[in-house]
Amino acid sequence: MSLSYVSTRGKAPELAFADVLLEGLATDGGLYVPEQWPVLPGASAGPPPLDYARTAVDVMWPFVNGQIDRAAFEALTAEAYATFDHPDVAPLVPLDEDRGLWLMELFHGPTLAFKDIALQLVGRLFDHELARRGERVTIVGATSGDTGSAAIEACRDRDSLDIFVLHPRGRVSDVQRRQMTTVPSANVHNIALDGSFDDCQDLVKAMFADEAFRGRHRLAAVNSINFARVMAQVVYYVVAARALAGEGAAPPVGFAVPTGNFGNVYAGYAAHRMGLDVSQFVVGSNVNDILTRFFDSARLEIRRVMPTMSPSMDIQVSSNLERLLFELNGRDGAATAALLGGFRAAGVAELPPGPAAGLAPLWSGARVDEAQTLEVIGDTYHRTGMMIDPHTAVGVGAAAAARRDPEVPLVVLATAHPAKFPDAVARACGRRPALPERLADLGERPERCVELDNDLAAVQRFVAAHTRVGGDR
Ligand SMILES: *Cc1c(COP(=O)(O)O)cnc(C)c1O
Repeated sequence: MSLSYVSTRGKAPELAFADVLLEGLATDGGLYVPEQWPVLPGASAGPPPLDYARTAVDVMWPFVNGQIDRAAFEALTAEAYATFDHPDVAPLVPLDEDRGLWLMELFHGPTLAFKDIALQLVGRLFDHELARRGERVTIVGATSGDTGSAAIEACRDRDSLDIFVLHPRGRVSDVQRRQMTTVPSANVHNIALDGSFDDCQDLVKAMFADEAFRGRHRLAAVNSINFARVMAQVVYYVVAARALAGEGAAPPVGFAVPTGNFGNVYAGYAAHRMGLDVSQFVVGSNVNDILTRFFDSARLEIRRVMPTMSPSMDIQVSSNLERLLFELNGRDGAATAALLGGFRAAGVAELPPGPAAGLAPLWSGARVDEAQTLEVIGDTYHRTGMMIDPHTAVGVGAAAAARRDPEVPLVVLATAHPAKFPDAVARACGRRPALPERLADLGERPERCVELDNDLAAVQRFVAAHTRVGGDR
C-alpha cells in the first residue's frame, strides 16, 4: 500500500507519491505532507552509517513504496549520489571536538550547495516517472543565484524535461552565472533578464498563471515546496546521528541550520518525527530575521528583505514553515489555512497559545548579522584552518548563541562550499578559497545564454520556440 499525502490546508485531494512529485503545490494552495510519519529503520539493522546511498534508500523507501520499483529506486539513488565529489557524500567533520561541535558538509555535489542533495535525486525521479507515463514537461524557474544551477544540473540531458532558468542580468556572481551558462546540454536554456530577481520571479508566476500557455507546454517546477525534496533531505540527519554514534557520542543530538525557506531544517523535524532522537533545532537567520522573531514570540511579522552576504537566506516568507505550523496546529488544515490567510492579508499572524507551547521544547532561533558573519568566518579560519561560507557561518554563529545543553553534541549543517562566495570569505580570512579541481577551468568554458527584455510575451515566445513540449512548432 502506498503512503497517502494530505494538504496542510485540508481541502485538496489526497495523493500518492508520484502525483505529489509532479504536482508540487496542492490545489487548495497548501503543501503536501505524509498522512502519517513512517518510522525510521532500526539503527542496528541498517547499513554502515557512511554508506550514504544505501542509508538513503532505507530511510526514503516508506515514502515511495508502492509508487516505484525498488530496484529502479536503488539505481536512481546510487546514480544521484555518485555525482558527489566526496566518498561519504555528506561527511561529518569536527569543528570543535572539545565542545562537541561538528560540521556536516552538504556541499560536495555538482554545484557546491546543499540543494544538490535533493535535486540530484528529484531530477532523476521526475524523469523516471514522466518516462513511465510517456509524458514530458517544461521546467521554468527564476533564480537569484544558487537554485538555478542546482536545478540545471538536476535536469540536464534528461529526455522528458526541458529547463528554462531566468536570472537577473548582471546581478548574480560570475561563478553562479557560469555554473548555469556553461552547461552544454541541448535541453538547458538560460535567460538573462534585463531586470531584478523579483522581475524574474514575477514573469515565472505570470507564465504559470497563463492557463493556456501553462497547459500547452506542460509547465512544471522543482521548487523547495516539493515534498520529494524534503524526503531526500531527511537522510543526512539520520546519517549525521549515526556517524556521531560511531564517534562514541550517545543520543540525543542537536542541529543548527542556516535557514531561508525552512526546507532544510523542516527535513530535520521530519527525521525527528520519524524517531530520530533530536533535542534541539537552532534555526539560524541573517538580518532577515522573521524566523528568529517567530521562535521568540510565536508571532510572524513580515519586514522588508535586506540583501546580505548569504543571499540564499534573504527571504521574508519561508514557505516550508507552513508544514511545521500544520503540525503545531494538531494537523488541523482549516486552522492552518486561516492562520496563513490572515498572515497574507495583514502581514502578521500570531500562533495561539496552545500550538505555540509546542515551540519551546525543540526550537530556538538566532539572528547573525553581517559583521558577526564575517567574524565567525575569520574566527573559524584562525582556530581550525577551515574556510566556511557565509551561510554556514550563520549556522555556526547561531549555534554559539542558542545552544542549550553543552553536553549534547551539536551538528551545524554546512550548506555551501566557501568558493561559491569567495569575496566574503577572502574578506574575513585574507585568503581566497579555491574552486574544486573539476571546476577550476569554469572561467574559460564557453557560455550559452540569451538576453531578453523584462517582457512576458518575449519570454513566452522564447520558451515556446525552444521547448520540445507543445504545439508551436
Ligand atoms: C537554499 C540555501 C539555504 C536555505 O535553505 P532552506 O531550505 O531554504 O532553508 C541555506 N544555505 C544555502 C547555501 C542555500 O543554497
